Amino acid sequence: MIFQENTTVLWNREIQPGIYRLALQSRRMAAEAAAGRFVMVRIDPAVFLRRPFSIHRLVAGKGPPEGIELLYKVVGPGTRRLSKYGAGQSLDVLGPVGRSFRVPEGVQKVLITAGGIGVAPLFFLAQTLIRQRGIAPGGIQSFIGAQNAREALCAEDFERLGIPTTVTTDDGSCGLQCLVTQPLAAAIAAGRPDAIYACGPPAMLKCVADMAFDRHIFCQVSVETLMACGMGVCLGCAVERRDKAGTYLHACTDGPVFDASRIRL
Ligand SMILES: Cc1cc2nc3c(=O)[nH]c(=O)nc-3n(C[C@H](O)[C@H](O)[C@H](O)COP(=O)(O)OP(=O)(O)OC[C@H]3O[C@@H](n4cnc5c(N)ncnc54)[C@H](O)[C@@H]3O)c2cc1C
Repeated sequence: MIFQENTTVLWNREIQPGIYRLALQSRRMAAEAAAGRFVMVRIDPAVFLRRPFSIHRLVAGKGPPEGIELLYKVVGPGTRRLSKYGAGQSLDVLGPVGRSFRVPEGVQKVLITAGGIGVAPLFFLAQTLIRQRGIAPGGIQSFIGAQNAREALCAEDFERLGIPTTVTTDDGSCGLQCLVTQPLAAAIAAGRPDAIYACGPPAMLKCVADMAFDRHIFCQVSVETLMACGMGVCLGCAVERRDKAGTYLHACTDGPVFDASRIRL
């Protein structure tokens, strides 16, 4: 089920310069949320199109979850305006939309790879793997890559779940100074995982997908293409198929989560 709802902002906190956690009250959206799905937010009448954001985690309530939380980075006029919202204000949200991550039966050993703000849907995935799929936290490893320490997000959250976590930065300001795919490759070489999940910049996704493809490892990626409608109408978020060159899938309705072997990255 997809809802259009005037949600109430519970909080909108700047956790690092230019990076915010925004909680929205909506029991209905929380009930339909799944890791990898996203919402389309109408930020302001002055910001023409809704903007897509992954569901980052659920907001705990006394009973069922109270709402959903987003993790976003200010990059332009929409996110800048969004950062000005405060508790108690109303935001028009459509969702949840899109397909969630799939976890095949029998998966025990999982590698999660995040690039920058791409960590947003992956923390929810990590919680899901442990709480709903009963995967031992020690069977999961997370790799968080970012340009610098400011953008290396959620490492403590993964560690609090008991997941061994490696941080890499481009400038060496935190963790290892290398690309996040480097320790990922070492982990794959050390022991074949059952599944790899990734979200981040296109070059990183391509590298992860190629590693998995070459070794026949199940791999899903969440792609953050430019997207206007989020509902399969504008067809602006086309992604070329890997298995059928010259034909396209759409990130909003067929994704944003895809089997990496299905799309050309
Ligand atoms: C399915 C999906 C889930 C997403 N989840 C998140 C999330 O959880 N957190 C988050 O911070 N962002 C997420 N994004 C990206 C987010 O939607 C954009 O950053 C936002 O729409 C930018 O709006 P703006 O008006 O601030 O900037 P705009 O003026 O629209 O863009 C500013 C700059 O950012 C670039 N940009 C815009 N959208 C994207 C994009 N999708 N990917 C790469 N570059 C982009 C533009 O090309 C431009 O250079 C997601 C996108 C998709 C499609």
